[in-house]
Amino acid sequence: MQPLRVQVPGAGYHAGLISCQMACPVRTDARGYVRAIAEGRFDEAYLIARGPNPFASICGRICGAPCEAACRRGKVPRLDADGHFVATDRPIAIRALKRFACESAGPESRPTEDVLRDVREYVPAVVAHAEEFAALLKGSVDGRIRKGNGDRVAIIGAGPAGLSAAHDLALLGFRPVVFETEPVPAGMLAVGVPAYRLPREVIAKEVAVIQALGVEIRCNVRVGIDIAFSDLRRDFAAVLIAVGAKSSRGLGLPGEGGPRVYGGVDMLRAVSLGESMDMGHDIVVIGGGNVAYDVARSVLRQIAYDAARTAARLAGTSAVRLVSLEELEEMPADTVEIAEGDEEGIVRLNGWGPVAILRDSAGNPTGVQFRKCLRVYDENRRFSPIYDDADQRVVPCDTVLLSVGQAPSLPFLDDGGTDIVQGRPGWPKVDPATLATTGYGVFAAGDLAHGTRLVIDAVASGKAAARSIYQFLTGLTLQPEVLTSFQLLDHYRREQGYESIRRQEIPVRHPGDRLAHPDTLVEIGYDRAQAMREASRCLDCGVTPVFDSNRCVLCGGCVDVCPTQCLKIVPLSDLDGGVELDAAIEYMLGPDTVRDENAAILKDEDRCIRCALCAMRCPVAAIGMERVEVHTSWRQQ
Ligand SMILES: Cc1cc2nc3c(=O)[nH]c(=O)nc-3n(C[C@H](O)[C@H](O)[C@H](O)COP(=O)(O)OP(=O)(O)OC[C@H]3O[C@@H](n4cnc5c(N)ncnc54)[C@H](O)[C@@H]3O)c2cc1C
Repeated sequence: MQPLRVQVPGAGYHAGLISCQMACPVRTDARGYVRAIAEGRFDEAYLIARGPNPFASICGRICGAPCEAACRRGKVPRLDADGHFVATDRPIAIRALKRFACESAGPESRPTEDVLRDVREYVPAVVAHAEEFAALLKGSVDGRIRKGNGDRVAIIGAGPAGLSAAHDLALLGFRPVVFETEPVPAGMLAVGVPAYRLPREVIAKEVAVIQALGVEIRCNVRVGIDIAFSDLRRDFAAVLIAVGAKSSRGLGLPGEGGPRVYGGVDMLRAVSLGESMDMGHDIVVIGGGNVAYDVARSVLRQIAYDAARTAARLAGTSAVRLVSLEELEEMPADTVEIAEGDEEGIVRLNGWGPVAILRDSAGNPTGVQFRKCLRVYDENRRFSPIYDDADQRVVPCDTVLLSVGQAPSLPFLDDGGTDIVQGRPGWPKVDPATLATTGYGVFAAGDLAHGTRLVIDAVASGKAAARSIYQFLTGLTLQPEVLTSFQLLDHYRREQGYESIRRQEIPVRHPGDRLAHPDTLVEIGYDRAQAMREASRCLDCGVTPVFDSNRCVLCGGCVDVCPTQCLKIVPLSDLDGGVELDAAIEYMLGPDTVRDENAAILKDEDRCIRCALCAMRCPVAAIGMERVEVHTSWRQQ
């Protein structure tokens, strides 16, 4: 028989099991706020969510939620009464629960000053990253962290990266001034993400809390036109460029240049700001990602909007076709976007690559010629499409919206930024550790620094840039220090039946109702009872059974009682755990251990649901339930 491959838990092992927290770029203790909701502690849930993330309310609406993709509940097998595999379970709806927590106690439901007071006073006491906040708010932790001297820092771009950096720089004792070309702050959140997913008042309220910390935002100021980059470098102690990747990429197709072919994000911007655009009646959206869906679904709402729409809205359209290179199952868009788009009436054409945009003699688009795409990615998952040129079709249309990626635009570097070297064409070279560019005192963050990603990546990047700027201006480093604490729990018990509760579907509006107005919110969100029920499904991966080998009598009671069959007792001789296992056996049992005569208890982490039945059954109290918590502290050197 092949020996069983096992892993011996070492330092960091148990913290690594809290997969939601580890997957979050700002290490939000999602488990912490989900459990707080399950126990009715909603105010605390908000503070936990807000602690490391100045955009908690916005993330509650639209975060790409890497925490949810990592959630272990989504990997636990559901077994039938005979112990046979039925299906894997579904992850906790962490993002929707964050929305619930923020709506309960965040700026959505309370005055800015109250939220600010809570953020200042209570966040340090209860959250992961507590030490970070204590340090930032008090100016020092045990005298270790010194505040800045009030130097002014210029930030170009009021997106989530720029504003997160400004938030932390203000707390660190600097005076950030944010320059924003648009009439409203928040970057793509305000001029990209449609209002049917993210209400504008939520953005305004969350940004107001950041401003109340002392962040100055100057809108309608385009760096390079209204103020020179060289002036910012001269007048400010440091400069952060956080201009995102706002320009729609083109495809270079024949017929692409000319009227009624637009970048998708340009169309979203026009809709967000109430600007008019010359649109026709038959729309083709080229692209298969989430942004393409925002584009297509926004246009669709314009179609459905009643005859009373104003000139600011797009003129009457009649069909929206979304054409993607990928087949349905390969499309990069989230499943929920595809499903909701289908429900709303978007005509989806999968597996077609554009060849040319056809125009009439007046120069107006009449259609897009496509060829069949046989394969998009090669065996190494690299983008490498193969086409069948013999299989072509024309999709008639009078307007084309391209949604095939974005790129940054940095023309302002011509005046005072020629020392900023490009990595790949159009993108500045950025030190991944410090986010410094090659220009002295100039840093970059967000989509511009790491390419287009999620809001929460931009937030993490902005916060990292703030720490680097702090270091640049004070000469002192601010190093993250991950602290893990362990606590044996006396009376750990779970909610009745939590293991069999199905994921609570997030309530959404009926497709017909969604199209009543372009800004009608699709997602209704959980009420209190739904939120508590969904939160009670959390497996609380921060709690884990620990086994005391000195007490264990290998009776097998824990194995028998385990409802997911995650425990096994196996002779040591059957195990292969490398040098770590050899060292552990020698440490616990001595160097002359006869492996055939000794056994180990194995735990399958993917299956363990932290029910504590093993601890309750153990006749010799050899099993305890231990809570593991991970905090990030900031150490000054
Ligand atoms: C349509 C769309 C939908 C998205 N949906 C989601 C989603 O649901 N979930 C998710 O997690 N992520 C989503 N994203 C991604 C997310 O919005 C971005 O990753 C994030 O906004 C990047 O933040 P940023 O601060 O780097 O850049 P941006 O948000 O792009 O902000 C940059 C800011 O800089 C300003 N600026 C540019 N040039 C100048 C200049 N010369 N002078 C002054 N200001 C300037 C811009 O006007 C802009 O406001 C979406 C992106 C798009 C485009």
